[in-house]
Amino acid sequence: MTGPTPAARPDLPAGLAARPRDARRGLPVPPVNVHTDPTTGTSTVDFTNINTTVSTELASVRRCSLCGTEGGYWERSSAGHARPS
Ligand SMILES: [Zn+2]
Repeated sequence: MTGPTPAARPDLPAGLAARPRDARRGLPVPPVNVHTDPTTGTSTVDFTNINTTVSTELASVRRCSLCGTEGGYWERSSAGHARPS
């Protein structure tokens, strides 16, 4: 596995930390980066592409595109669940 050592990893929001991890890098896999092959039905992770079907479905029900949890207005559009101060 490549990437930062566990001690160097920043704390993640609980919803993101609970996501499945990419085997190669150990990164949490956002639901919008999971792609299903239409011919084989197998799922793959591609961090360079957004699954727009999943992204749209999550947005329509106001769920976070990074962790898939319900969050309301601010979480729907933010990376990291920032809240207004
Ligand atoms: Zn989230």
